[in-house]
Amino acid sequence: MELYKDLETVTKWFKALEPIGTDKKGGVTRLGYSKTEDVMHGAIRNIARNLGLKSSGDEVGNTYIHEKNYDKYYVIGSHLDSVINGGRYDGVAGILSGLLVLKWIKEEGLNIPVKVAAFRCEESSAFGIATVGSSLITHTLDVDIMKQVKNQEGNSLYETLKSKGYNPHCKKIEGVLGYFELHIEQGRVLEVSNKKIGIVNAIAAATRYWLFIEGRQDHSGATPMGIRKDALCAAAEIVTELEKYADEEAANSTVGTIGYIANSPNAFNVIPGNVKMGIDIRGIDKKSINKVDDEIVEFIKKVCEKRGLKYKLVPISKAKPVKLDEELKLNLAKTAEELKEEYMIMNSGAGHDAMKFAEITPTGMVFIPCRDGVSHNKDEDINFEDVVRGSKIIFEQLKKLALQ
Ligand SMILES: [Zn+2]
Repeated sequence: MELYKDLETVTKWFKALEPIGTDKKGGVTRLGYSKTEDVMHGAIRNIARNLGLKSSGDEVGNTYIHEKNYDKYYVIGSHLDSVINGGRYDGVAGILSGLLVLKWIKEEGLNIPVKVAAFRCEESSAFGIATVGSSLITHTLDVDIMKQVKNQEGNSLYETLKSKGYNPHCKKIEGVLGYFELHIEQGRVLEVSNKKIGIVNAIAAATRYWLFIEGRQDHSGATPMGIRKDALCAAAEIVTELEKYADEEAANSTVGTIGYIANSPNAFNVIPGNVKMGIDIRGIDKKSINKVDDEIVEFIKKVCEKRGLKYKLVPISKAKPVKLDEELKLNLAKTAEELKEEYMIMNSGAGHDAMKFAEITPTGMVFIPCRDGVSHNKDEDINFEDVVRGSKIIFEQLKKLALQ
């Protein structure tokens, strides 16, 4: 009965937000620092008002919902922006989960200092960089980068913040006792494992390169095998070799992918002269990532030398995996067990605002399944009941923390 009431509440909230930013393809487009994102923040403030809660903002447009003004408090955070033609639950589920927790705290008359934080521009679709709002207030974003990155209209993040009346040199958030985030998994691990709840251990990081291989574009009929300089043949070796190195590190959860390849001139009767490929290595164990990284870099050198090809390897990113708070992870798992939830401890392949807070406060994350692992897609779908289940875990955990 109680679950039914909570389910009805979150369903109503999701339905209220559903039309905002609906695009022609039936998904939603709510880019960071756009008018549509503003409307989402306004809608959340509306829900808060109806619950008898306060809302406030900070210098960069993040929104906070709370019962009182606290000096020291826990944060339940996530985001309200989306990718282009994205789904309606990525980020939003975390905010509504936070509101549900605030509602329970209020209904039970508990004295737990919690602020629900809706961060701006978590997705990289607007400016090419992710977790903007949470990075700004945790002081993990460089001013130079803010000036370099631009949106589709050609405005830099720095200019955009200024033009909306925000302060790119904002002060650092203070008084945070701990951070929680509920998020849809965005993969199929929970579904395949038949679990309803994931307690996150670590958030993966990506090491990425562009690789340019230069061979010799020749006639495919008139050039004998022995004297060819085929760039695509080297690329083929690199693709399977990366798979092999990543396979060897599978026990450490490292993955390696070449998902982008451009072959030139890409013609039936021409030996490929140039290939551009994108190398993506991810994991949660820096040593393991580095091993695959070193191995593939060494192999690229060897294979290009052997085939007499020139190459250029351009690093794009070498991010650090983020380990979430060990004690909080174990406590969340214990709470899930007490609530008789089918849970598992797992890693996150995608990045989240939680990464930024992990740098300043004990941080924990709860995952719920999304249908077929589909996310960043209009067909993203979840079971609202799972939002209630995941929120209960955070609520019970907060109750325990407040008693300490
Ligand atoms: Zn998200």
